[in-house]
Amino acid sequence: MSELSWPLLLLAMVVGAALTLGITHKRQSRRSSAGGYPPGYVQGVQDLFSSQPDKAVAVFMKMLELDPSTVEPHFALATLFRKKGEVERAIRIHQNLISRNGLEPEHKRRALEGLARDYLHAGLLDRAETIANNLLETDPKNQEGMRILLSIFELESEWDKAISIAEKLLGTGGILPSVLAQYYCELAELHRHGGNETAARRAIKQALNHDEECPRAGMILGDIEMAAGHVRAAIRNYQRVAWKSPEYLSEIVAPMLTCFGRTDASQATFNTLKKLVLDQSAIDPVLQMTEYMIGKGEEVEAGEYIRGFLHDRPSLEGLRYLMDQSPADPHGRDENHRVVKETIYKLSSASKRYRCDKCGFSGQKLHWQCPSCRVWGQTRPI
Ligand SMILES: [Zn+2]
Repeated sequence: MSELSWPLLLLAMVVGAALTLGITHKRQSRRSSAGGYPPGYVQGVQDLFSSQPDKAVAVFMKMLELDPSTVEPHFALATLFRKKGEVERAIRIHQNLISRNGLEPEHKRRALEGLARDYLHAGLLDRAETIANNLLETDPKNQEGMRILLSIFELESEWDKAISIAEKLLGTGGILPSVLAQYYCELAELHRHGGNETAARRAIKQALNHDEECPRAGMILGDIEMAAGHVRAAIRNYQRVAWKSPEYLSEIVAPMLTCFGRTDASQATFNTLKKLVLDQSAIDPVLQMTEYMIGKGEEVEAGEYIRGFLHDRPSLEGLRYLMDQSPADPHGRDENHRVVKETIYKLSSASKRYRCDKCGFSGQKLHWQCPSCRVWGQTRPI
């Protein structure tokens, strides 16, 4: 048997089974919503080839060649083309479907939804928005129309509009409360930077209403309180985030220590923070705690603190800090000391500090919405 025989045989079996099922089904029922094929079978074929899009395209092309009047293979092909990055082909398929005479209303709706999503992928946001709005005029509960509008408003940072749509989607389970909380946080940040503290506080209150453990909302509220001179209130907010979401300590320790420097914080709170920081894997908060202790004249304790951390979790950043603290070699090997130091600097500055749990995207900055997979609240300090 040639090297192509098995894949081709499999392909033929799938097409054959699919078409047989489709023909049988057509005889049994004229009201099939799958355009002549049993519900779910095209999806099955699509899933089967999800890892082999070129073969899947060949299968669906073959189906259309044998029976051009069917509808489902068009939808499957368009989705595959979009996933493969061939958005123009997906657009043409959806446009052809929409212009087809006698197309059932259900299929027309799906074709319009597909076309709107194609335009969104192609960056043609005005066109996508127009279609999504038309879909919602016909059916105010159209979820895909709402999701497309939501993606557009996210891309354009139109947070008021995003919140309005998300509030509607929330009731249908089409969005997580934690994502809506992120929109309110975005709005709060805008108001803060615009100098409107009252509106920023109102937005944060809404964020916490939807997600009482939203770490970002707690951090923003801490920042607002600190800017207003309410140091103890700021500490309370940072502390709540630190205790409930210690993975974000690298964002909280610096402002907490600033607050500690401005008021008499309890030693118990400081000790709890020290322990929490040591339990995490991020080096930044360890360095911040170390510096704070040195500033208070606790050099010996600070040295033990960072060395204890590095003993269990080696880190270039930590090594770089220790090198900075070490005097040059007194035995004439200064050049070696300088090269080692420079090398550590280069290596440590190239290391990533945040990573998205969902897609693995990593970078130097904390993005509350991952720039790669667009998921909210999954990027965390490494
Ligand atoms: Zn991601």
